[in-house]
Amino acid sequence: MRAVLTPSCREELFTLLERHPGALPLAGGTDLLVRLRRQALQDEHPLLCLAGVAELQGICEQETTIAIGAATTFSRIITDPLVLRHAPLLARAAQTIGGPAVRNMATIGGNIRTASPAGDSLPPLYMLEAQIEIASRRATRVLPIGEFITGPGQTTLRDGELISRILLPRGASSHCQSFEKIGRRRSMAISVTSFAGWVRLCSDGSIEEARFAWGSVAPTVLRIPALEKELVGVPLDAAIIRHAAHIVSHSVSPISDIRATAQYRRIVAGKLLVRFLEGLRG
Ligand SMILES: Cc1cc2nc3c(=O)[nH]c(=O)nc-3n(C[C@H](O)[C@H](O)[C@H](O)COP(=O)(O)OP(=O)(O)OC[C@H]3O[C@@H](n4cnc5c(N)ncnc54)[C@H](O)[C@@H]3O)c2cc1C
Repeated sequence: MRAVLTPSCREELFTLLERHPGALPLAGGTDLLVRLRRQALQDEHPLLCLAGVAELQGICEQETTIAIGAATTFSRIITDPLVLRHAPLLARAAQTIGGPAVRNMATIGGNIRTASPAGDSLPPLYMLEAQIEIASRRATRVLPIGEFITGPGQTTLRDGELISRILLPRGASSHCQSFEKIGRRRSMAISVTSFAGWVRLCSDGSIEEARFAWGSVAPTVLRIPALEKELVGVPLDAAIIRHAAHIVSHSVSPISDIRATAQYRRIVAGKLLVRFLEGLRG
């Protein structure tokens, strides 16, 4: 039988992690427990339960950021006033994760560590340029999310480290923004393609700053910095929107799977950008 370690504070958490280097961090368990059952991973690795560690829970405001504890559930994120004020797209994306029972258990840290290209919190986090705080017993380091996630299921997390907090810039909510998830049904669906867009407009309707991120169309969430730059200062007419969609469909590298073909994802990725930009013109 597998042992379950239940630390009640940060100090105890890292002491146990040092003593049991192969321990598997358990947050909500909505990915890990499914994986353990599927892969029949050996019982020798204990589960290291994060739920009792208060320092990993909750959301607070700092001078320039809001900090979300890695073990904060999506149910909490959806209703949190700070998230709604500073990162409404994250709340919107969280609303599309699983159903209520999943959201009551699933955490943002678990979603990031799973590093699935279809992880629904990831496009808003890339777009907001979230910083991931990584802690071990002796040190803390911070990495942009795009450097933390290196491939499907792959991160730069080292032995003895955990994700401790997610840091988001304050005040991004005053921009035009949108999150869309295309799935095979409205809830309890893994995304076929998802999109987060964020734009600041000049008074003449041209773009001052733009950020876009797509999920499920590449090995990791995709941003296209060249396109974001190209749109700056340009009037948003039909021709430039068509051109942008063309660049997107040539930049993505989706796969075909049981949910959709690569070609479908390629087309939808462009259409999601078109819908967002046309909405801005309107
Ligand atoms: C029915 C169902 C529906 C789902 N629907 C969606 C969906 O619509 N969209 C979506 O994106 N996902 C979905 N998921 C996947 C899952 O719910 C999410 O990825 C969730 O955020 C995982 O969080 P968790 O707390 O349950 O992680 P866990 O399962 O506890 O952990 C996941 C992985 O992260 C590691 N881990 C957890 N916390 C930390 C930490 N702080 N530091 C380092 N490593 C850590 C664990 O060791 C494990 O490897 C669904 C899952 C189920 C079962």
